[in-house]
Amino acid sequence: MSAQPDIDLNTPVGDRVAKTTCYMCACRCGIDVYLRDVPGGRAEVRYIDGNRDHPLNKGVICGKGASGIMQHCSPARLRAPMKRVGPRGSGEFQEITWEEALSLATEWMGKVRKTDPKRLAFFTGRDQSQSLTGFWAMKFGTPNFAAHGGFCSVNMAAGGLYTFGGAFWEFGDPDWEHTKYFLLFGVAEDHASNPIKIGIGKLKERGAKIVSINPVRTGYNAVADEWVGVRPSTDGLFVGALIHELFRTRQIDLDYLIRYTNAPWLVIDAPGTAEDGLFARDAEGNPMAWSRDADALVSGKAGDLSVALTGARVLPDGRRARPVFELMAERYLGDDYTPEAVAGATGIPADQIRRIAAEIAHVAFREEITLDRPWTDAWGRKHDKMIGRPVSMHAMRGISAHSNGFQTCRMIHVLQILLGSIDCPGGFRYKPPYPKQTPPNLLPHGLPEEIQPEMPLGGPHLGFPHGPQHLLIGDDGAPSRLDKGFSWDAPMSAHGLMHMVLNNAAKRDPYGIDVLFLYMANMAWNSSMNVPGTLEALTATDENGDYVIPKIIYSDAYYSETVPYADLILPDTTYLERWDCISLLDRPISEPDMIADAIRQPVVPPDRDVRGFQDVLIDLGARLGLPGFVKEDGSPAYPGGYPDYMVNHERKPGIGPLSGWRGKDGTETCVGAPNPDQLSRYIENGAFHVQPVAPEHAYFKHANRGYLDWGIEKGIRLSPEPTIFQLYCEPLQRFRLAARGHGDRQPPERARDRIETHFDPLPFWYPPFEGEMVDSAAFPLHAITQRPMHMYHSWGSQNAWLRQITAENRLYVHRELGARIGVVDDDWVWIASHLGRVKCQVRLMDGVNPHTVWTWNAIGKRKGAWGLDKDAPEATKGFLLNHLISELLPDGGGGYRYSNSDPITGQAAWFDLRVSIEKADGAGGTEPRFEALGRGGLPEAPSKLAYGKPEVERT
Ligand code: SF4
Repeated sequence: MSAQPDIDLNTPVGDRVAKTTCYMCACRCGIDVYLRDVPGGRAEVRYIDGNRDHPLNKGVICGKGASGIMQHCSPARLRAPMKRVGPRGSGEFQEITWEEALSLATEWMGKVRKTDPKRLAFFTGRDQSQSLTGFWAMKFGTPNFAAHGGFCSVNMAAGGLYTFGGAFWEFGDPDWEHTKYFLLFGVAEDHASNPIKIGIGKLKERGAKIVSINPVRTGYNAVADEWVGVRPSTDGLFVGALIHELFRTRQIDLDYLIRYTNAPWLVIDAPGTAEDGLFARDAEGNPMAWSRDADALVSGKAGDLSVALTGARVLPDGRRARPVFELMAERYLGDDYTPEAVAGATGIPADQIRRIAAEIAHVAFREEITLDRPWTDAWGRKHDKMIGRPVSMHAMRGISAHSNGFQTCRMIHVLQILLGSIDCPGGFRYKPPYPKQTPPNLLPHGLPEEIQPEMPLGGPHLGFPHGPQHLLIGDDGAPSRLDKGFSWDAPMSAHGLMHMVLNNAAKRDPYGIDVLFLYMANMAWNSSMNVPGTLEALTATDENGDYVIPKIIYSDAYYSETVPYADLILPDTTYLERWDCISLLDRPISEPDMIADAIRQPVVPPDRDVRGFQDVLIDLGARLGLPGFVKEDGSPAYPGGYPDYMVNHERKPGIGPLSGWRGKDGTETCVGAPNPDQLSRYIENGAFHVQPVAPEHAYFKHANRGYLDWGIEKGIRLSPEPTIFQLYCEPLQRFRLAARGHGDRQPPERARDRIETHFDPLPFWYPPFEGEMVDSAAFPLHAITQRPMHMYHSWGSQNAWLRQITAENRLYVHRELGARIGVVDDDWVWIASHLGRVKCQVRLMDGVNPHTVWTWNAIGKRKGAWGLDKDAPEATKGFLLNHLISELLPDGGGGYRYSNSDPITGQAAWFDLRVSIEKADGAGGTEPRFEALGRGGLPEAPSKLAYGKPEVERT
């Protein structure tokens, strides 16, 4: 028997506990950090556990969270500010002081601001302080700002927000307490992971049915009662067929549609005119519907319950108009969505589709649940109970990462709405501050004329255009933004297109930049498409031998693959050494029954010369003299750094980053004057604040008079109007009308067909772009990634405990495919796309769609990065699919190459990747290999990483 460590289980793990918020994934659980006092007046992190009082995780800690201690001690931690002294990529740096670093950054960015602010591009990775970073970029005056939502989830977010003012994940949850039937679409385990695990546990206890729709049976899918191994990118077809069945069998909640949706609104049917497909509106601009009681047109927002769902009407001006519901029935009852028609493409037998549709309808309509909670709706009608349709759904990245993702997400929401299951008992539930208005009333800023030397933008960068009038383009149609967000290429790109920033900057298309400022975005590796091309962009030189992207400033806590390509490094702290704010202005931790936000506090001070990025950003803002970061006399507005900002910044009078204990005496919630004692109160309370939603406001939030009014009182809603679900999305039609030649703002000729086809106001399915543009016989397989439950993006590979679980990855292929190409477990294969090829090892399995291969995300690492040994398996056997994914689509004719993205939102279409595989010789390990990175002055990593007492050999 091998020697085991001798563990004394009776020794207290620490002298005291500090409570803060985990950051080992995006879930934001509350944690108890056990600290031990050590000589020299310092404390050491000894152990991390879940905070039992925390509203989100209720004490649950996952493998990642418990391993945070090893992240905190990682040998890859940056130690001091650095200036590049060798060529980009060499990893040759010189340590400098913070004063030198901040002076350099101020000098570089100050010049840009004085001349042309758009020549600064500021993009952040999985940062959760976007309300600060966005505010900073807005005050700087550059239009070039976004976080990484365009990589990750914007189809899901935008699809939901345009449709029903919410979305999944941070916007809302299944009603875990009452759901009887749960459909899970393409969800990775790294987001919302503890709450979903807790929720699924509740469903299992109650015997609710869980159906997972995913090409791969991993993670949550492995515990589902039924696995639907859908072919990637065809989820929309599957959902369309479910909708077809609901229409065919007349199992739709018509009363719900009349009350809460635009199903009765009349759509103008006047082909060839500038208003074709728009809503018929009255003199006040209200969409109209036909009242059967009044036998007349009425405002569709008036709450008339007799409005017609079918039947063409003649408008006072003689034009014809038809209700949205009738258009939907025509669409979904058509031949395209019959179970038989979609079975081949989706790989799901027609009988299975019909059965699932019947089960959903049965649970929704025959097993309805009621809660005895009286409530009043937005029109003043009193209800003595809350009626629920206990079918819920959840979806995330897989759906989102396709070029048909926006319409697919809308299709899922339409399915929920037809069942009447949005914000009812047993269905989906909004988390405050959601729902928002539909369409969202936040518009993007950054028109060319707004961008002036030393002037802030007029508002936030990211928003939700209602039509071509809100595009950020010049008079000549040229994009205002470097990533071409909010241009005709991606008109509704609510999170920007981070994946295009380096490519566009290196090509100076639409223009060049002077400074690229990145935070926590591993753009030179797993956060880019086409890694070889990205490295070329980072090192491209002009005719004088100067870098085409002249200056790159990067902030991260660790020595990632991107660090060696930057000119100036601003080293960040670990999450246990910093203040943070998980804010209602950004991405709070609210649950359906509560407004909730949280903080991180530094539970130990850094033992290196590093600073929290938010502190640095605030300092830079003051040095640059940005409005909002300096007082009238020019002195820093927040001399105490980020904690000072968290307490004293007011976005609007009384509304700041934190909602708890506001007002001078700390008695106000959400709205109130800054309270100097606020952070102490958060710390006393376990680093979070909760404001419960009253039971009578807890459902039907979109149309619950009490909730709507309370939302205004708490500053989380702007309007007392209900949120009306947009089954028919009029903003899309406005873009289509432009494509047909109507209006002042016209798309380029090359974009007209693309917009006409894809901007359909009723959700529909279309094949993803890459599969249509490459030879599908040459690349017959889909290739996707999954995220390991025990790791989160690239960070996990520096964590000694987590590396013991996964330090190298395999390409998982269906057993039948393996037999066809003659490979067994651990054989080597070439996997090729239209962009390039990668050599890797395979593993055979049954639980995967036969046309699909997959691997774990971001396990492959570049030699020299993350403090790993030069022969670490992550670099010799690990691989990335990113090398195979092009950031650009092939030329579809005419010489223009669009980004490999959703045409509506610009979301990166990672999961559209098409590949072939063939057996390979394993000699030499994985390919491509990139030159080893220099270590950036970091000491060699210890050969053995242990934490705690030295091991004692058992005798
Ligand atoms: S689920 Fe995420 S936030 Fe929660 S404990 Fe695990 S790693 Fe931390």
